[in-house]
Order: sequence, then C-alpha cells, then structure tokens
Amino acid sequence: MPQLVSVVVATPAHSALASPLSYESELPLAPGTLVRVPLGKRELCGVVWDAPQQTRHDNSPANLRPITTALDGVPPLSASWRQLVTFAATYYKRGIGEVALAALPPQLRDLDATQLARRLKRPAQAHEGATTPGPAVVTAEQGAALAAIAAGGGPFLLFGATGSGKTEVYLRAAQALFEADPQAQALVLVPEINLTPQLLARFAERFGAGAVAALHSGMTHPQRLRAWLAAHLGQARVVLGTRMAVFASLPKLRLIVVDEEHDPSYKQQEGARYSARDLAVYRARLEGATILLGSATPSMESWQACEKGRYRRLDMPARVGAGALPAVRLVDMNLQPKRTLFSPALLAAIMKRIARGEQSLVFLNRRGYAPVLACGACDWKSECAHCSAFRVFHKADRTLRCHHCGYTEPVPRACPSCGNVDIAPVGRGTERLEEQLAALVAPALRPDGRPARVLRMDADSTRGQGELERQLAEVHSGEVDVLVGTQMVTKGHDFRRITLVAAVNPDTALFSSDFRAPERLFSLLLQACGRAGRDAVHAAASEMWVQTWHPQHPLFAALRRHDFAGFAAQQLKERQQAGMPPFTFQALLRADAREQEVAQGFLAAAAAAAAELAGHYGITVYAPVPQSVQRVADVERAQMLLESESRPALQTFLDAWQPLLHSLRPRGLIRWAVDVDPLAI
Ligand code: ADP
Ligand code: ZN
Ligand code: ZN
Repeated sequence: MPQLVSVVVATPAHSALASPLSYESELPLAPGTLVRVPLGKRELCGVVWDAPQQTRHDNSPANLRPITTALDGVPPLSASWRQLVTFAATYYKRGIGEVALAALPPQLRDLDATQLARRLKRPAQAHEGATTPGPAVVTAEQGAALAAIAAGGGPFLLFGATGSGKTEVYLRAAQALFEADPQAQALVLVPEINLTPQLLARFAERFGAGAVAALHSGMTHPQRLRAWLAAHLGQARVVLGTRMAVFASLPKLRLIVVDEEHDPSYKQQEGARYSARDLAVYRARLEGATILLGSATPSMESWQACEKGRYRRLDMPARVGAGALPAVRLVDMNLQPKRTLFSPALLAAIMKRIARGEQSLVFLNRRGYAPVLACGACDWKSECAHCSAFRVFHKADRTLRCHHCGYTEPVPRACPSCGNVDIAPVGRGTERLEEQLAALVAPALRPDGRPARVLRMDADSTRGQGELERQLAEVHSGEVDVLVGTQMVTKGHDFRRITLVAAVNPDTALFSSDFRAPERLFSLLLQACGRAGRDAVHAAASEMWVQTWHPQHPLFAALRRHDFAGFAAQQLKERQQAGMPPFTFQALLRADAREQEVAQGFLAAAAAAAAELAGHYGITVYAPVPQSVQRVADVERAQMLLESESRPALQTFLDAWQPLLHSLRPRGLIRWAVDVDPLAI
C-alpha cells in the first residue's frame, strides 16, 4: 500500500508551496532521503522531511502524485541537519525547502539516480597524503586555551591577538578530537574565499590532503559535489569553508571553529539572510559539538555574551615568539601641505623598508582608479543611469563601472553633457594608489639592487582563475615590496615580511550613520595592524601608520594602545545608553518597487497592519525610509526598522505579522523580505 510522504522543494518563502508537499511512495522512505518529485510540469529535487505518515487510506486526497525516484544511494540527511535547516528557516523567516535545497550542492539537485550512483561508485580516497607535525611545543597561552577546551563546555571565544597562534589552537583542538575518535569531523568556517587557500594548506599539512575538504562558492559544481559527498559520507575529517559550509552535512560533527568570528561576511545578504556564525553556535548545541569562535577583534555580540557568562572567553594576548604588536603612528593630515597623498615621514618609512628588504602594506577600502569622474566645465559626474550612485572609473580598461548593478561603459572622450574634453577623476581608489605609489617609490632600490615592486590586490586584480593564489605567493616569496589593497589583504593572512602597514584614508567611517561603523573600523585597523611584525626577527621595528584628519578621535587612542577591551567597553556602554544591539534586537522589513512611494507605501501599510501586534509584543516600529543606496538597477528600495528588548518577543511578533504582510498586495511592489538581526541598517 502506498505511503504518504512529505517533501520539501526549493520554493520561495512567500509561495503557497512553502510548506512541505505531500506525495505518495510505494516504498517507505526515511526522512532525509533525497527524492525527485513532479511539480506542475516540472520535476524537482526534494528532501523527504517528516517521519512517514500513516498508510494511505481511501479518504486521502485523490490528487496525490507519486514521487519520481528516490536517490537512495545517498544516505539520508540526518535529523539534526534537518533541525538546523528548520531552525534557520523559522528564525530568518524563509521557506524550509528554500533553505534546505540551497544548502545542497547544485549538482546534487540536478543529477538523476543513475548519474549519482556512478559518482558514488568511485572509490573514496584510502591514502590521506603526507602530514607534517606542528611546532614541538605550544605556548603557555595556547596550552591554557586547549586545556579549557578539552575540559568541555563553551561556547568558547578565543580572544587572541593577531599572531598569537589561534590557528594552532584550532589545529590542536581538532587533533585531540581525532585522537579520541578517529571518525569525528570538524567544521572550520572562514569569512572569505581568499582566506581559504592558506588555512586549507595548514590543515592539509597537519591531517593530510585527503582528510580535508573545502566548500565555497569559488569551486566548480563537480568540485562542490565531491567535497559535499566526502563530508556527508564521513570521509572528510575537516570541512573548511565560507558561510555556506555551516550547512554541510557532517554525520560525526564534534567541533566547529568560526575563524574571524566578527567578520560581517558571515551574514548572508540575500535570500535567507542568515548569520553563519550564529547558526554555527546553534548547530554546535544541537549536535553536542564544541564550538570555538576566534578573533582578535570579536563582535560586540560575542563580547557581551562573554560579559554575561553565556560564552567563555579564552585570552591569548601575546604574540608567538614574544614579538610585540606594531607601534601605531598617527599622521595629522591638518599639518601636511595641501593635497598631500603620503606624508613625507610615511613615504620615508616605506623607502627604508624597501632598502632593508622588508615589505609594506598600504590599504584603502575602495577599488578602481577613482570613485567619480567629473567634468571641470559643467556639473556632470559619472552617475549610474540605473542607480543612485556614481560609477567608478577603472583605468586599466578605461571603463566606468557601477559597483551596485554592474552597468559598464567605456569612458567617454568628452563630457556627455557639455562636450568639454577635460573630464577628470575625483578621489582615489586602489588602482590610483598603486600608480601613485609606484611613481613615488621608483627611486628606491631593494638590497638585491633591483627596483622596488608594487603589487595591487583587490577584487579586480584577483578575478581570474588562480590569480589570488599566484599573487599571494608573490607576496610570500618576497618578490613584492609594497602591497596595495582593499580590506581583502588586511585580514587573516600570515605575511612574514611585512613590517609596515598604512591606512591612508580611514576617516569616512568615523562619521557614518551606521552605528556599527566604529566597531568595523576599529576591527579593520587592528586586523591590518596585525599583518605587520609577524616574524619575530623584524617585530621590534614594525609600525602601523594612520593618516587622519581627526587624530584626537578616541578610536585612535584605543588603537595606539591596541586596547580592544577598552574600545569594546566604551562601545557597549554607548550602545546600552542608546538602546542598540546587542542590548536590543532588530529586524528590517525591506521593500523593492519601481517607485519609492510604492515601496514606502507598502511599509506604511505593513506598519499599520502591525500596530496592534506591535503594541502587544512591545515592538518599536520606526518610520519607513529609503535604503542607503536608494535605487539599484532601476529598483527603488525602502526599509523599516523594528526593534525589541526581547528576541523571543520579536520572533513571535514576526511570525504573527507575516500572514498580514502576505495579504497586502499593493500594485507595483516587486518584492519584500524580512532581515532578522540585520548588519547594515
Ligand atoms: P593567528 O591565527 O592568531 O593570527 P597563527 O596561528 O597564524 O596566529 O600563528 C602565527 C604564527 O606563529 C604562525 O606562523 C604559526 O605557525 C606560528 N606558531 C603558532 N603557534 C606556535 C608555537 N606554539 N610555536 C611556534 N610557532 C607557532
Ligand atoms: Zn561638462
Ligand atoms: Zn548601477
């Protein structure tokens, strides 16, 4: 007799099909089994969700369709994996099927049972590759942290200075785990793809290349499927990946590491807007795994969780090898001649490094040559026709490119508005910085007599396949004397020869309307500072230079002392007084429409529909406002902030509010979405 099975498929959150769909099956199917099912005229991949329903009776709905096939060669996804997905969908207000299917590798969704069976028949790796032991002894601080981790409990916040040896703690924690249980698995999350090669190499060196699998969006579909299966079948001991990897299926997950846990990239910015860090904490509790959040500059959320005793802080303030953190030098730009790019003292310091064979890193958080191109005769500027933003001038291919919608055009020969040929770049990005620096350091010679070499690394320079690894290798080998880059190069890298780091234009973030801007800036500067002096031989002479118009700002005072704890205490005090996260909890309702009035009108109607509920649950509903970049790709964007002192109250409110939102269907509205715990408001 056919069984009734409930199946989730990738349907959008707002569709009527968002809840599990019913099908019938001749054979009983375990929850978590991958299936292919018909939906309308299509056939989709789905996951059997609930326990088998009662055997089908004659009074069941007559229109149930049978599943097409079960991919029973793949072991079912575990109950805890399904629970993780259910939690993520519920908490972030999306469909279960949408979250579940997005978490699976694309090829798994597209393969049929025979193709998959062929894949699975390929022998698993039996050799794991050569391994190299780590340093013979751990530092006292590492030893203390490892002892605390071994004693159990957590979540742990590994608050370790840059270069204090956090990665070694991750490696040893994993090693201890594998010694106790050879089948155990560890999940290691990193914020950005560009940090995976280095960490992957360190894990592969320690545990063998065959034991480590990477999962990130830079991989091809077959690579992702292979890695996913290695994790799912328990062959990979370590899965290392970006935020998407938090959903990897790991049957014997015992340890989760979230490296650079403060990094905003852990928050997904479209679809299900989940925080991989927060889900990792949830997942660890669910699976009874140890969780280790690591950072030299923890998020205010995690810092406060330690203050409240919810997380346990493990401190590693000292750098390995007794190297000191670089001295911070502020350059007061008010005292420099007009139009100074590099103060003479900073330039001299860079030249000195070149002559000694040491490296410098100069960073600027803006790629391209110049953020705007402007006409000197009229008021034309390189605005994007589709966004409320300027297009950026990229000199390398002489284009104007919109960084929001991608709209790209060749640079016009003359001003499109008045015909003046004298149009000029305003401001500077990394391309221009690279050009200027190359000219300025041209007279300097390296110890080997060769001229100094400047290399730029940013999203543009590393776009090509293998470019990132190639450029990182050039830096590590010492070929490069001055590295220019965006924040991409300031995070996580273990550069050994850098003894000078310079931030040339960090001021804009000091006066941003985003209450998280100071936290981000401080963490960016302290992380960047951490790239210098990582080699004990040169540590004493290492420096961080900051060119600023506001040298008196308290943020810089804390930076000079490398005083994260002091900075955090001050930030948290301000946030508490102002009633901001982590003392309150927020959600955004975002709306997109062709016209701003329509988007805001929807939000106003949503607020009106919420009035009673909001009062009942004690939710503050703010007025609708345009988003900071109001128009992107001809779509007007608006948002409305909701705030509560209680996370559960906010959740309950959102659940009760959603059905009311579905019933509002204003003309011209393109889409709306809820963003829980938004990072940019
Ligand atoms: P972090 O992740 O805290 O920035 P790393 O783990 O990258 O620091 O460590 C910094 C450097 O110190 C690395 O080159 C690492 O190999 C080295 N290191 C870490 N622990 C030890 C140790 N116990 N003995 C010797 N060297 C170590
Ligand atoms: Zn003009
Ligand atoms: Zn645009």
